[in-house]
Formats: sequence, structure tokens, C-alpha cells
Amino acid sequence: MRAATFDTTPPFLHEKARAVRDKVFGPRVFVRGVVEVSSHCRENCRYCAMRRDNRALTRYRLAADELAELIIHQRPASITDIDIQAGEDPVAVREVVLPLVRELRRRTNLGITLCLGTLSQQEYDELREAGGDYYVMKIETGNPDHYDLIGAPGSLAERVAAICYLARTGWKVSSGLIMGLPGQTSAEVEQTLNLLTLLPLAGCSVSPFVAGEQTPFGTSPNGDIEQTLNCVARLRLCAPHWIIPAVSAMRLVSEDGYVRAFKAGANLATINLTPSSARADYPIYKRDRIIMDEERVLSAIADAGCDFSPIGIADHLRNAPEVVLPKGVNIFA
Ligand code: SF4
Repeated sequence: MRAATFDTTPPFLHEKARAVRDKVFGPRVFVRGVVEVSSHCRENCRYCAMRRDNRALTRYRLAADELAELIIHQRPASITDIDIQAGEDPVAVREVVLPLVRELRRRTNLGITLCLGTLSQQEYDELREAGGDYYVMKIETGNPDHYDLIGAPGSLAERVAAICYLARTGWKVSSGLIMGLPGQTSAEVEQTLNLLTLLPLAGCSVSPFVAGEQTPFGTSPNGDIEQTLNCVARLRLCAPHWIIPAVSAMRLVSEDGYVRAFKAGANLATINLTPSSARADYPIYKRDRIIMDEERVLSAIADAGCDFSPIGIADHLRNAPEVVLPKGVNIFA
């Protein structure tokens, strides 16, 4: 990551990052809705309760037609984009996500974000053809050995190759890291940030690690909110054009962490639209996670002195300059 030429101690770092966000986007925050369509997962990440070895979890897949009705008729007016998320579940991709994306594309102008894990190139192509705009593919850590230690999907090289494939085939891609993962060193954080800045990304997230119940890391300490927010600010300064979310885990580890993320340069918020009957069985952090409903999200945006964006992520990125790999970085392809 490039060396900063200004005072890098908070709050100056956050102020500088906020000023850069305001210069590029204005004091505005994209608002998307998320539906968590399946809690089945074939992967076994050691930091996630949806891992396949967690037999205590009740698994579900939601129905495409019911989700379409919910999104089309009941979404809050502030939402411009929909994020369809699932564990790594090819059945859900085929039976729920593809028909849902086609229906949303046919009946709405919503931008469509997908966060479905590492799939085959054919599946990415089908999802893109169906109408997907933006794919979220987090690397979590940029050190190959640490990646293996946390049990993240496949290998880091495969994950990076998938990001490059998606970008080459017309997707706008977001990635991200987890701050405070067990076994993570500060050198690995720097290595991760460096790798992220080399990738063809339109957005990037940082979440504080949350020790999930029913995971091998369940007794580890949570990530530090100050380090996480400093990382938000550094991401913004290093890539002013990135879409950088505030995530609910920030609020879970610190009461005002979510609002402070916007003050540190974040520009994306997510309203949870998953039907309440399914939410407890999608334990991305823990069963009693804080659900970011419309009221919480809009008041956090206002508390940070921002407004929600009338333009969606997909529309914004459609007009943004092409993101290309820097020269010499095709080793990942
Ligand atoms: S992080 Fe994603 S891929 Fe890994 S176990 Fe959880 S849902 Fe599955």
C-alpha cells in the first residue's frame, strides 16, 4: 500500500479518508438490501458457523418466487441494489439464484450483487447473462499459509484467479479481508492490503473478526474496532473510487463502530431483507447478530452526517472507468 504523506494517526486519518470519499462520491452512501437465500455450504471455513461440519445448524433454502415478491413489492424505497448471498451452494445457484436474478432483471431496475462463493466459470457466466452486475469474492487474508490455516475455500491462488476471471468477463468485483483473524500478524495485514490493491476491484470491505459460536475459533478474541476502522480509512485513501461498506460486525464489536465507518470513508450500507424465520439459521457472526433494518441503517447514515445515494452501485459503476490489472499482475490469471 502506498505510503501516506499526511498525519496517519486517527482521527486525522479518518478525516482525510472522509474528505476523499466526499470528493469522489459526495457525502453519500449507497443502500442495498441483502437476502440470504441459502445456509447450505460445501466449504469448511474455520471462522464461520455455516461450515459444512457444523451439524448443529438447521439448513434452509428460500424459494425464488417468494423472494422475488418480497424484493419487488416490499423493499424500502432507499434501496437501489440487491445483494443475493448464500453459502457455497450450487443447488441454490441453480434453483434459487438464477431464476431470482432473471426475474429481478425482467421486472426491476435494481442493481444485482451476488455473493455466492467460488463457483465454476460456467456458473459465473450464466449468472452474468441472467443479469448479475457485481460479485463479492473476499480473500479474507492475503497470505497463502494463513489462508490455509483459517480453512478458507480452496487456495488463495484459486480465489485470486476467480476474481480476475470475473473482472475479465464483465463483472464489477468487490473483495475484502477480516481484521483480527486468529493467527494473523500485522505483516500479514500489510501483505493482504498490498494484494487487494493489485487486484481489479471496484470495491473492498474490511470486517472485524467475530468469534462465531459452533466454530473452531469460537473462543478467540474479536477483532479490534480501531484497527478495523483505520483499515477502512486506508482502503479509501489508497483507492478513492472503491465502494467500501460499513458492516454489521462493526456494530457487534463496538456500539458506534458502524456509524464511525462512514466517518472513516465508507460509502455502502446494507439493509437486511432476509425473512425473520430464516435469519437465525444464517449465522454469519452469531445467532443473536444485530439485524440492520431500514431504521437502523438510515439513522446511522444520518448520524454520520451523510445521506443515502439516489444512484445505485450498478448504475454508478456502469459509468465508472474500466478497472484494469496493473502491468505484470497477470500471474494471478
Ligand atoms: S465463509 Fe462462506 S464459504 Fe466459508 S463456510 Fe461460511 S458460508 Fe461457507
